[in-house]
Amino acid sequence: MPDVVIIGGGPGASALGSYLSMAGVDNAIFEKANHPRPHVGESLVPSTSRIFNEIGFLETMEREGFVHKPGAAWHPSATSGLHKMVFADFPLEGVPQDYSYHVERSHFDSLLLKHAQSLGTKVHEGVAVKEVLFDDEGTANGVRVAVAGQTMDVPAKVVVDASGRNTLLGNQLGLKKRDPIFNQFAVHAWFADVDRGPEDVEEYIHIYFLPLNRGWAWQIPTGDNVTSFGVVAEKSYFKECGMNIEEWFDHMVSLNPDLSKALAGATCIREHGAEADYSYTMEQFAGDGYILIGDAARFVDPIFSSGISVAMHSAKYASDAIVAALDTGNFKRESWLEYERQLKSGVDVWYEFILLYYKLLHLFTHFITHKEYKIEILRLLSGDVYERSEVKVLDAMRDMIHTVETTPNHLLAGKLGDIPIDFMASTPERSATG
Ligand SMILES: Cc1cc2nc3c(=O)[nH]c(=O)nc-3n(C[C@H](O)[C@H](O)[C@H](O)COP(=O)(O)OP(=O)(O)OC[C@H]3O[C@@H](n4cnc5c(N)ncnc54)[C@H](O)[C@@H]3O)c2cc1C
Repeated sequence: MPDVVIIGGGPGASALGSYLSMAGVDNAIFEKANHPRPHVGESLVPSTSRIFNEIGFLETMEREGFVHKPGAAWHPSATSGLHKMVFADFPLEGVPQDYSYHVERSHFDSLLLKHAQSLGTKVHEGVAVKEVLFDDEGTANGVRVAVAGQTMDVPAKVVVDASGRNTLLGNQLGLKKRDPIFNQFAVHAWFADVDRGPEDVEEYIHIYFLPLNRGWAWQIPTGDNVTSFGVVAEKSYFKECGMNIEEWFDHMVSLNPDLSKALAGATCIREHGAEADYSYTMEQFAGDGYILIGDAARFVDPIFSSGISVAMHSAKYASDAIVAALDTGNFKRESWLEYERQLKSGVDVWYEFILLYYKLLHLFTHFITHKEYKIEILRLLSGDVYERSEVKVLDAMRDMIHTVETTPNHLLAGKLGDIPIDFMASTPERSATG
Protein backbone atom coordinates (compact mmCIF):
# COMPACT_ATOMS: atom_id res chain seq x y z
CA MET A 1 0.00 0.00 0.00
CA PRO A 2 1.43 3.43 -0.96
CA ASP A 3 1.58 6.06 1.79
CA VAL A 4 0.25 8.67 -0.63
CA VAL A 5 -2.22 8.21 -3.48
CA ILE A 6 -2.36 10.99 -6.07
CA ILE A 7 -5.45 11.33 -8.30
CA GLY A 8 -4.50 12.53 -11.81
CA GLY A 9 -1.27 12.65 -13.80
CA GLY A 10 -1.04 16.32 -14.87
CA PRO A 11 1.81 18.72 -13.99
CA GLY A 12 0.64 19.12 -10.38
CA ALA A 13 0.54 15.38 -9.77
CA SER A 14 3.87 14.70 -11.49
CA ALA A 15 5.62 17.48 -9.55
CA LEU A 16 4.22 16.14 -6.28
CA GLY A 17 5.20 12.57 -7.18
CA SER A 18 8.72 13.81 -7.96
CA TYR A 19 9.12 15.71 -4.68
CA LEU A 20 7.73 12.82 -2.61
CA SER A 21 9.90 10.25 -4.35
CA MET A 22 12.97 12.44 -3.82
CA ALA A 23 12.07 12.52 -0.10
CA GLY A 24 11.77 8.71 -0.05
CA VAL A 25 7.97 8.67 0.35
CA ASP A 26 6.12 5.74 -1.22
CA ASN A 27 3.56 7.28 -3.60
CA ALA A 28 1.35 6.27 -6.52
CA ILE A 29 -0.35 8.21 -9.31
CA PHE A 30 -3.66 7.07 -10.87
CA GLU A 31 -4.29 8.84 -14.20
CA LYS A 32 -7.48 8.06 -16.10
CA ALA A 33 -6.03 8.88 -19.53
CA ASN A 34 -3.16 7.24 -21.34
CA HIS A 35 -0.46 9.82 -21.99
CA PRO A 36 0.20 11.57 -24.28
CA ARG A 37 -3.19 13.28 -24.04
CA PRO A 38 -4.11 16.80 -25.24
CA HIS A 39 -4.61 19.67 -22.77
CA VAL A 40 -5.17 23.42 -22.91
CA GLY A 41 -2.58 25.74 -21.28
CA GLU A 42 0.68 25.95 -23.17
CA SER A 43 2.63 28.95 -21.91
CA LEU A 44 4.66 28.84 -18.70
CA VAL A 45 5.67 31.70 -16.40
CA PRO A 46 9.33 31.81 -15.26
CA SER A 47 8.63 30.71 -11.67
CA THR A 48 7.70 27.26 -13.05
CA SER A 49 11.40 26.73 -13.83
CA ARG A 50 12.14 26.97 -10.09
CA ILE A 51 10.22 23.72 -9.66
CA PHE A 52 11.82 22.14 -12.76
CA ASN A 53 15.19 22.98 -11.25
CA GLU A 54 14.36 21.52 -7.84
CA ILE A 55 13.03 18.22 -9.22
CA GLY A 56 15.85 17.88 -11.78
CA PHE A 57 13.63 18.38 -14.84
CA LEU A 58 15.27 21.49 -16.32
CA GLU A 59 17.72 19.40 -18.39
CA THR A 60 14.78 17.58 -19.99
CA MET A 61 13.12 20.90 -20.89
CA GLU A 62 16.29 21.99 -22.67
CA ARG A 63 17.01 18.61 -24.29
CA GLU A 64 13.48 18.36 -25.73
CA GLY A 65 13.82 21.78 -27.34
CA PHE A 66 10.70 23.44 -25.95
CA VAL A 67 10.33 26.97 -27.33
CA HIS A 68 12.01 29.57 -25.12
CA LYS A 69 9.74 32.37 -23.93
CA PRO A 70 11.70 35.60 -23.30
CA GLY A 71 8.71 37.80 -22.46
CA ALA A 72 5.18 38.95 -23.09
CA ALA A 73 3.69 41.50 -25.52
CA TRP A 74 0.33 43.34 -25.34
CA HIS A 75 -1.53 44.66 -28.34
CA PRO A 76 -4.22 47.35 -28.00
CA SER A 77 -7.54 46.67 -29.72
CA ALA A 78 -8.09 49.89 -31.64
CA THR A 79 -4.67 50.44 -33.21
CA SER A 80 -1.66 48.49 -34.37
CA GLY A 81 1.44 48.27 -32.09
CA LEU A 82 2.63 46.50 -28.96
CA HIS A 83 4.04 46.95 -25.45
CA LYS A 84 6.50 44.32 -24.35
CA MET A 85 7.93 43.04 -21.09
CA VAL A 86 11.21 41.13 -20.96
CA PHE A 87 11.71 38.52 -18.23
CA ALA A 88 15.47 39.18 -18.16
CA ASP A 89 14.69 42.54 -16.50
CA PHE A 90 13.65 40.74 -13.27
CA PRO A 91 15.76 37.65 -12.50
CA LEU A 92 13.89 35.28 -10.16
CA GLU A 93 15.50 33.66 -7.13
CA GLY A 94 16.04 29.93 -7.72
CA VAL A 95 15.59 30.25 -11.48
CA PRO A 96 18.86 29.92 -13.41
CA GLN A 97 17.49 31.31 -16.71
CA ASP A 98 16.13 34.60 -17.98
CA TYR A 99 13.40 32.97 -20.06
CA SER A 100 10.53 30.58 -19.61
CA TYR A 101 8.96 28.06 -22.03
CA HIS A 102 6.00 27.42 -24.30
CA VAL A 103 5.02 23.76 -24.36
CA GLU A 104 2.99 21.34 -26.40
CA ARG A 105 1.07 19.96 -23.42
CA SER A 106 0.66 16.34 -24.49
CA HIS A 107 4.43 16.00 -24.86
CA PHE A 108 5.29 18.09 -21.79
CA ASP A 109 2.82 16.34 -19.47
CA SER A 110 3.95 12.94 -20.68
CA LEU A 111 7.63 13.73 -20.05
CA LEU A 112 6.87 15.09 -16.60
CA LEU A 113 4.91 11.97 -15.66
CA LYS A 114 7.78 9.78 -16.84
CA HIS A 115 10.14 11.92 -14.79
CA ALA A 116 8.16 11.27 -11.61
CA GLN A 117 8.18 7.57 -12.46
CA SER A 118 11.94 7.60 -12.97
CA LEU A 119 12.32 9.02 -9.45
CA GLY A 120 10.22 6.23 -7.91
CA THR A 121 6.54 7.19 -8.23
CA LYS A 122 4.34 4.24 -9.21
CA VAL A 123 2.36 5.45 -12.22
CA HIS A 124 -0.90 3.78 -13.28
CA GLU A 125 -2.24 5.17 -16.54
CA GLY A 126 -5.69 4.38 -17.92
CA VAL A 127 -6.98 3.96 -14.35
CA ALA A 128 -9.78 6.34 -13.30
CA VAL A 129 -10.42 7.11 -9.65
CA LYS A 130 -14.15 6.77 -8.99
CA GLU A 131 -14.27 8.14 -5.47
CA VAL A 132 -12.23 8.91 -2.39
CA LEU A 133 -12.87 6.54 0.53
CA PHE A 134 -13.41 7.76 4.10
CA ASP A 135 -13.38 5.92 7.44
CA ASP A 136 -16.18 6.20 10.04
CA GLU A 137 -14.63 9.36 11.49
CA GLY A 138 -14.61 11.11 8.12
CA THR A 139 -10.88 10.80 7.42
CA ALA A 140 -9.89 9.96 3.84
CA ASN A 141 -8.13 6.60 3.79
CA GLY A 142 -7.91 5.53 0.15
CA VAL A 143 -9.50 5.60 -3.28
CA ARG A 144 -11.76 3.36 -5.35
CA VAL A 145 -10.38 2.90 -8.87
CA ALA A 146 -11.82 1.40 -12.04
CA VAL A 147 -9.56 -0.94 -13.93
CA ALA A 148 -10.41 -3.41 -16.71
CA GLY A 149 -14.13 -3.09 -16.02
CA GLN A 150 -13.72 -3.83 -12.30
CA THR A 151 -13.41 -1.63 -9.23
CA MET A 152 -10.66 -1.96 -6.67
CA ASP A 153 -9.97 -0.17 -3.38
CA VAL A 154 -6.49 1.23 -2.78
CA PRO A 155 -5.79 2.26 0.85
CA ALA A 156 -3.47 5.19 1.66
CA LYS A 157 -2.43 7.38 4.58
CA VAL A 158 -2.91 10.55 2.51
CA VAL A 159 -5.07 11.11 -0.58
CA VAL A 160 -4.14 14.00 -2.88
CA ASP A 161 -6.64 15.25 -5.43
CA ALA A 162 -4.74 16.50 -8.50
CA SER A 163 -7.58 15.75 -10.92
CA GLY A 164 -7.55 19.26 -12.42
CA ARG A 165 -10.83 20.87 -13.44
CA ASN A 166 -12.54 17.50 -12.98
CA THR A 167 -12.32 18.40 -9.27
CA LEU A 168 -13.15 14.86 -8.18
CA LEU A 169 -12.97 15.34 -4.42
CA GLY A 170 -14.33 18.90 -4.42
CA ASN A 171 -17.43 17.58 -6.20
CA GLN A 172 -17.69 14.54 -3.92
CA LEU A 173 -17.59 16.72 -0.79
CA GLY A 174 -19.58 19.67 -2.19
CA LEU A 175 -16.69 22.10 -1.62
CA LYS A 176 -16.82 23.90 -4.96
CA LYS A 177 -17.78 27.58 -5.14
CA ARG A 178 -18.15 29.13 -8.57
CA ASP A 179 -16.40 32.45 -9.05
CA PRO A 180 -18.91 35.29 -8.51
CA ILE A 181 -17.41 37.41 -11.31
CA PHE A 182 -15.81 35.30 -14.00
CA ASN A 183 -17.88 33.17 -16.33
CA GLN A 184 -15.54 33.12 -19.30
CA PHE A 185 -15.66 31.15 -22.51
CA ALA A 186 -12.58 30.29 -24.58
CA VAL A 187 -12.16 28.85 -28.08
CA HIS A 188 -8.72 27.72 -29.20
CA ALA A 189 -6.97 26.11 -32.16
CA TRP A 190 -3.49 25.63 -33.66
CA PHE A 191 -2.24 27.30 -36.84
CA ALA A 192 0.69 27.02 -39.28
CA ASP A 193 2.25 29.89 -41.25
CA VAL A 194 1.34 32.55 -38.70
CA ASP A 195 2.84 36.04 -38.90
CA ARG A 196 4.31 36.06 -35.38
CA GLY A 197 5.27 39.74 -35.59
CA PRO A 198 8.71 41.44 -35.50
CA GLU A 199 11.68 39.05 -35.10
CA ASP A 200 12.54 40.20 -31.56
CA VAL A 201 9.09 39.21 -30.26
CA GLU A 202 8.39 36.08 -32.32
CA GLU A 203 8.85 33.81 -29.31
CA TYR A 204 6.90 35.97 -26.87
CA ILE A 205 3.41 35.23 -25.70
CA HIS A 206 1.19 37.83 -27.36
CA ILE A 207 -1.94 39.04 -25.60
CA TYR A 208 -4.43 40.94 -27.74
CA PHE A 209 -6.97 43.23 -26.14
CA LEU A 210 -10.44 42.83 -27.61
CA PRO A 211 -13.00 45.66 -27.34
CA LEU A 212 -15.31 43.68 -25.04
CA ASN A 213 -15.65 43.33 -21.31
CA ARG A 214 -13.06 40.72 -20.26
CA GLY A 215 -12.25 39.98 -23.90
CA TRP A 216 -8.76 38.97 -24.97
CA ALA A 217 -6.82 36.56 -27.19
CA TRP A 218 -3.55 34.65 -26.88
CA GLN A 219 -0.82 33.74 -29.36
CA ILE A 220 1.60 31.07 -28.14
CA PRO A 221 4.34 29.62 -30.35
CA THR A 222 4.65 25.95 -29.37
CA GLY A 223 6.78 24.69 -32.27
CA ASP A 224 8.74 25.77 -35.36
CA ASN A 225 5.60 26.29 -37.40
CA VAL A 226 2.88 25.66 -34.83
CA THR A 227 1.19 28.54 -33.03
CA SER A 228 -1.67 28.21 -30.59
CA PHE A 229 -4.38 30.87 -30.56
CA GLY A 230 -7.28 31.29 -28.18
CA VAL A 231 -10.03 33.89 -27.92
CA VAL A 232 -11.76 34.58 -24.61
CA ALA A 233 -14.83 36.59 -23.52
CA GLU A 234 -17.76 36.34 -21.19
CA LYS A 235 -19.85 33.28 -21.98
CA SER A 236 -22.97 35.42 -22.34
CA TYR A 237 -21.35 37.23 -25.27
CA PHE A 238 -20.72 33.92 -27.06
CA LYS A 239 -24.36 32.90 -26.49
CA GLU A 240 -25.74 36.24 -27.70
CA CYS A 241 -23.70 36.01 -30.91
CA GLY A 242 -25.50 32.81 -31.93
CA MET A 243 -22.46 31.50 -33.82
CA ASN A 244 -20.71 28.14 -33.78
CA ILE A 245 -17.26 28.08 -32.19
CA GLU A 246 -15.34 28.42 -35.48
CA GLU A 247 -17.43 31.42 -36.58
CA TRP A 248 -17.09 33.01 -33.18
CA PHE A 249 -13.31 32.51 -33.22
CA ASP A 250 -13.10 34.28 -36.62
CA HIS A 251 -15.39 37.06 -35.40
CA MET A 252 -13.23 37.64 -32.31
CA VAL A 253 -10.05 37.67 -34.42
CA SER A 254 -11.56 40.38 -36.64
CA LEU A 255 -11.87 42.68 -33.58
CA ASN A 256 -8.12 43.35 -33.30
CA PRO A 257 -6.02 44.61 -36.23
CA ASP A 258 -2.73 42.96 -35.15
CA LEU A 259 -4.49 39.65 -34.42
CA SER A 260 -6.17 39.72 -37.83
CA LYS A 261 -2.79 40.38 -39.43
CA ALA A 262 -1.12 37.51 -37.55
CA LEU A 263 -3.70 35.01 -38.82
CA ALA A 264 -4.29 36.48 -42.31
CA GLY A 265 -2.15 33.90 -44.18
CA ALA A 266 -2.35 31.08 -41.60
CA THR A 267 -3.80 27.57 -41.93
CA CYS A 268 -5.69 25.86 -39.12
CA ILE A 269 -3.96 22.56 -38.27
CA ARG A 270 -5.87 21.44 -35.19
CA GLU A 271 -9.62 21.65 -34.85
CA HIS A 272 -11.14 24.29 -32.61
CA GLY A 273 -11.89 23.34 -29.01
CA ALA A 274 -13.81 25.19 -26.29
CA GLU A 275 -13.47 25.65 -22.52
CA ALA A 276 -16.18 27.14 -20.33
CA ASP A 277 -17.15 27.91 -16.72
CA TYR A 278 -13.66 27.51 -15.47
CA SER A 279 -13.18 29.87 -12.52
CA TYR A 280 -13.90 28.52 -9.03
CA THR A 281 -12.41 27.85 -5.63
CA MET A 282 -12.91 25.10 -3.07
CA GLU A 283 -14.11 26.13 0.41
CA GLN A 284 -10.98 24.50 1.83
CA PHE A 285 -7.86 23.08 0.18
CA ALA A 286 -7.40 20.22 2.66
CA GLY A 287 -9.21 18.15 5.27
CA ASP A 288 -8.71 15.06 7.40
CA GLY A 289 -6.56 12.69 5.35
CA TYR A 290 -6.67 14.69 2.11
CA ILE A 291 -5.15 17.61 0.22
CA LEU A 292 -6.21 19.32 -3.01
CA ILE A 293 -3.55 20.69 -5.35
CA GLY A 294 -3.48 22.67 -8.63
CA ASP A 295 -6.74 23.11 -10.51
CA ALA A 296 -8.42 20.61 -8.17
CA ALA A 297 -8.13 23.29 -5.45
CA ARG A 298 -8.76 26.52 -7.31
CA PHE A 299 -8.82 27.89 -10.83
CA VAL A 300 -8.36 31.55 -11.69
CA ASP A 301 -8.76 33.13 -15.13
CA PRO A 302 -5.76 32.16 -17.32
CA ILE A 303 -5.00 35.67 -18.69
CA PHE A 304 -1.50 35.61 -17.10
CA SER A 305 -0.69 31.90 -17.76
CA SER A 306 -0.54 31.19 -14.04
CA GLY A 307 -2.07 27.66 -13.97
CA ILE A 308 0.92 25.34 -14.29
CA SER A 309 3.06 27.46 -11.99
CA VAL A 310 0.31 27.33 -9.35
CA ALA A 311 -0.15 23.56 -9.81
CA MET A 312 3.59 22.93 -9.41
CA HIS A 313 4.07 25.29 -6.46
CA SER A 314 1.09 23.73 -4.71
CA ALA A 315 2.80 20.36 -5.23
CA LYS A 316 5.98 21.69 -3.62
CA TYR A 317 4.14 23.03 -0.56
CA ALA A 318 1.95 19.92 -0.31
CA SER A 319 5.03 17.70 -0.39
CA ASP A 320 6.57 19.63 2.54
CA ALA A 321 3.35 19.19 4.54
CA ILE A 322 3.04 15.48 3.73
CA VAL A 323 6.65 14.68 4.60
CA ALA A 324 6.18 16.43 7.97
CA ALA A 325 2.87 14.65 8.63
CA LEU A 326 4.36 11.25 7.87
CA ASP A 327 6.88 12.01 10.62
CA THR A 328 4.26 12.91 13.21
CA GLY A 329 1.59 10.46 12.03
CA ASN A 330 -1.02 13.23 12.17
CA PHE A 331 -2.99 13.45 8.91
CA LYS A 332 -5.82 15.60 10.26
CA ARG A 333 -6.70 18.97 8.72
CA GLU A 334 -4.56 20.81 11.28
CA SER A 335 -1.45 19.31 9.63
CA TRP A 336 -2.33 20.97 6.30
CA LEU A 337 -3.17 24.49 7.51
CA GLU A 338 0.23 25.94 6.62
CA TYR A 339 -0.07 24.38 3.16
CA GLU A 340 -3.47 25.96 2.73
CA ARG A 341 -2.16 29.38 3.80
CA GLN A 342 0.83 29.22 1.43
CA LEU A 343 -1.27 28.28 -1.57
CA LYS A 344 -4.10 30.67 -0.80
CA SER A 345 -1.87 33.69 -0.26
CA GLY A 346 -0.10 33.08 -3.60
CA VAL A 347 -3.25 32.52 -5.64
CA ASP A 348 -4.94 35.48 -3.92
CA VAL A 349 -2.21 37.72 -5.36
CA TRP A 350 -2.81 36.29 -8.87
CA TYR A 351 -6.56 36.75 -8.42
CA GLU A 352 -6.32 40.33 -7.26
CA PHE A 353 -3.92 41.13 -10.12
CA ILE A 354 -6.43 39.64 -12.58
CA LEU A 355 -9.36 41.59 -11.13
CA LEU A 356 -7.46 44.87 -11.27
CA TYR A 357 -6.26 44.12 -14.80
CA TYR A 358 -9.82 43.58 -16.04
CA LYS A 359 -10.96 46.71 -14.23
CA LEU A 360 -8.17 48.84 -15.73
CA LEU A 361 -8.31 47.24 -19.18
CA HIS A 362 -6.37 49.48 -21.58
CA LEU A 363 -5.12 51.67 -18.71
CA PHE A 364 -3.06 48.63 -17.69
CA THR A 365 -0.51 49.68 -20.31
CA HIS A 366 0.13 52.76 -18.15
CA PHE A 367 1.51 50.42 -15.47
CA ILE A 368 3.58 48.24 -17.79
CA THR A 369 5.23 51.29 -19.31
CA HIS A 370 5.60 53.30 -16.08
CA LYS A 371 9.20 53.47 -14.78
CA GLU A 372 8.17 52.93 -11.16
CA TYR A 373 5.78 50.03 -11.68
CA LYS A 374 7.19 48.16 -14.67
CA ILE A 375 9.50 45.89 -12.68
CA GLU A 376 6.84 45.18 -10.06
CA ILE A 377 4.39 44.14 -12.80
CA LEU A 378 7.10 41.99 -14.37
CA ARG A 379 7.69 40.34 -11.02
CA LEU A 380 4.03 39.37 -10.86
CA LEU A 381 3.97 38.22 -14.47
CA SER A 382 6.98 36.01 -13.69
CA GLY A 383 4.92 34.27 -11.01
CA ASP A 384 6.68 35.71 -7.95
CA VAL A 385 3.47 35.72 -5.89
CA TYR A 386 4.22 33.51 -2.88
CA GLU A 387 5.07 34.70 0.63
CA ARG A 388 4.68 38.38 -0.31
CA SER A 389 4.10 40.71 2.66
CA GLU A 390 3.26 43.56 0.29
CA VAL A 391 2.57 44.07 -3.40
CA LYS A 392 2.77 47.84 -3.86
CA VAL A 393 1.84 47.89 -7.51
CA LEU A 394 -1.54 46.30 -6.75
CA ASP A 395 -2.18 49.05 -4.22
CA ALA A 396 -1.22 51.63 -6.88
CA MET A 397 -3.59 50.03 -9.38
CA ARG A 398 -6.39 50.11 -6.82
CA ASP A 399 -5.64 53.77 -6.01
CA MET A 400 -5.82 54.72 -9.66
CA ILE A 401 -9.22 53.06 -10.02
CA HIS A 402 -10.44 54.80 -6.88
CA THR A 403 -9.31 58.21 -8.17
CA VAL A 404 -11.01 57.71 -11.54
CA GLU A 405 -14.23 56.52 -9.93
CA THR A 406 -14.47 59.21 -7.28
CA THR A 407 -13.38 62.26 -9.31
CA PRO A 408 -16.38 63.96 -10.96
CA ASN A 409 -16.03 64.08 -14.76
CA HIS A 410 -12.69 62.28 -14.70
CA LEU A 411 -11.36 62.02 -18.26
CA LEU A 412 -10.90 58.27 -17.89
CA ALA A 413 -14.29 57.65 -16.28
CA GLY A 414 -15.72 55.66 -19.19
CA LYS A 415 -12.59 53.59 -19.70
CA LEU A 416 -12.84 51.22 -16.73
CA GLY A 417 -14.17 47.66 -16.92
CA ASP A 418 -17.27 46.51 -15.02
CA ILE A 419 -15.56 44.53 -12.20
CA PRO A 420 -17.46 45.35 -8.95
CA ILE A 421 -15.74 48.16 -7.03
CA ASP A 422 -15.99 46.55 -3.58
CA PHE A 423 -13.08 44.29 -4.46
CA MET A 424 -10.91 47.37 -4.66
CA ALA A 425 -12.24 49.18 -1.59
CA SER A 426 -9.57 48.19 0.91
CA THR A 427 -6.06 46.82 0.85
CA PRO A 428 -6.23 43.04 1.40
CA GLU A 429 -4.18 41.58 4.20
CA ARG A 430 -1.16 39.67 2.94
CA SER A 431 -0.17 36.63 4.91
CA ALA A 432 3.52 36.06 4.38
CA THR A 433 5.54 34.44 7.12
CA GLY A 434 8.86 35.48 5.63
C1 LIG B 1 -8.57 28.55 -21.63
C2 LIG B 1 -7.42 28.16 -20.75
C3 LIG B 1 -6.12 28.59 -21.05
C4 LIG B 1 -5.06 28.26 -20.20
N1 LIG B 1 -3.79 28.71 -20.50
C5 LIG B 1 -2.77 28.44 -19.66
C6 LIG B 1 -1.44 28.86 -19.95
O1 LIG B 1 -1.15 29.45 -20.99
N2 LIG B 1 -0.46 28.58 -19.03
C7 LIG B 1 -0.73 27.89 -17.88
O2 LIG B 1 0.19 27.68 -17.06
N3 LIG B 1 -1.96 27.43 -17.61
C8 LIG B 1 -2.98 27.68 -18.48
N4 LIG B 1 -4.22 27.19 -18.21
C9 LIG B 1 -4.41 26.42 -16.96
C10 LIG B 1 -3.80 25.02 -17.03
O3 LIG B 1 -4.44 24.31 -18.07
C11 LIG B 1 -4.01 24.31 -15.70
O4 LIG B 1 -3.88 25.23 -14.64
C12 LIG B 1 -3.04 23.15 -15.45
O5 LIG B 1 -3.19 22.16 -16.43
C13 LIG B 1 -3.29 22.56 -14.05
O6 LIG B 1 -2.54 21.41 -13.83
P1 LIG B 1 -3.12 20.24 -12.88
O7 LIG B 1 -2.04 19.23 -12.79
O8 LIG B 1 -3.69 20.83 -11.67
O9 LIG B 1 -4.38 19.64 -13.69
P2 LIG B 1 -4.45 18.98 -15.13
O10 LIG B 1 -3.31 19.40 -15.96
O11 LIG B 1 -5.81 19.24 -15.64
O12 LIG B 1 -4.29 17.43 -14.84
C14 LIG B 1 -5.32 16.69 -14.23
C15 LIG B 1 -5.21 15.24 -14.67
O13 LIG B 1 -6.11 14.46 -13.89
C16 LIG B 1 -6.68 13.47 -14.71
N5 LIG B 1 -7.95 13.06 -14.08
C17 LIG B 1 -9.08 13.78 -13.97
N6 LIG B 1 -10.01 13.10 -13.30
C18 LIG B 1 -9.45 11.92 -12.95
C19 LIG B 1 -9.92 10.76 -12.24
N7 LIG B 1 -11.16 10.70 -11.76
N8 LIG B 1 -9.08 9.72 -12.08
C20 LIG B 1 -7.81 9.77 -12.56
N9 LIG B 1 -7.33 10.81 -13.27
C21 LIG B 1 -8.13 11.88 -13.44
C22 LIG B 1 -6.85 14.14 -16.06
O14 LIG B 1 -6.91 13.20 -17.11
C23 LIG B 1 -5.58 15.01 -16.13
O15 LIG B 1 -4.53 14.35 -16.79
C24 LIG B 1 -5.29 27.47 -19.05
C25 LIG B 1 -6.59 27.00 -18.77
C26 LIG B 1 -7.64 27.35 -19.60
C27 LIG B 1 -9.02 26.84 -19.27
